[in-house]
Amino acid sequence: MQLLKDRILADGRAINSDVLKVDSFITHQVDIELMEAIAADFAEHFKDEGITKVVAIESSGIAPALMTAKALKVPLVILKKQPSKLLNGSLLQTEVTSFTTAKTYELTASPKFLKAEDHCLIIDDFLANGEAVTGAIRLLRMAHATVGGVGILIEKSFQPGRKKLEGAGFEVYSLARIKSMKSGQVEFEE
Ligand code: 5GP
Repeated sequence: MQLLKDRILADGRAINSDVLKVDSFITHQVDIELMEAIAADFAEHFKDEGITKVVAIESSGIAPALMTAKALKVPLVILKKQPSKLLNGSLLQTEVTSFTTAKTYELTASPKFLKAEDHCLIIDDFLANGEAVTGAIRLLRMAHATVGGVGILIEKSFQPGRKKLEGAGFEVYSLARIKSMKSGQVEFEE
């Protein structure tokens, strides 16, 4: 998506060769018009998949996922991050390792909002090692819901997330695919 790529080049900052900072338009301050354009692109791409719910990973996935849910006219379900396993038998939980902090957390959801008849579109801001999205997929499986697709704003294709997800049989649709961030220089895939 050219609009997102242009914005990354203008306002994104590679803080090293692995991590891109996008806090002025995605992760801290949110550019609503950009989110609307992103949502329209995701909604068009996934319109024939029979999506019944959009699923976001807390917290930076929420803004684009909310707009995408609105565009697809389906509810948004937020998967919540908890620091440790809760003694709460009514929640679905799975352990995930954070890319940015290298710490583990529990990704959780209530089975009240994810049912066997749900066909879900998972939306997240970044795809790096694929840990967050594979955690989301595990939770959906626990709820007997199915995955209709994975929509990512920024994929760092030099990290193994896509390979992991495609190897497990999931389609990954990314709006911007970064090939390299060496020396602070963002280079996109063709
Ligand atoms: P993964 O689980 O695929 O290894 O990493 C994806 C998650 O880590 C995303 O939910 C995102 O919040 C965070 N993340 C991964 N790479 C980056 C990055 O370069 N910049 C920022 N801001 N977050 C990232």
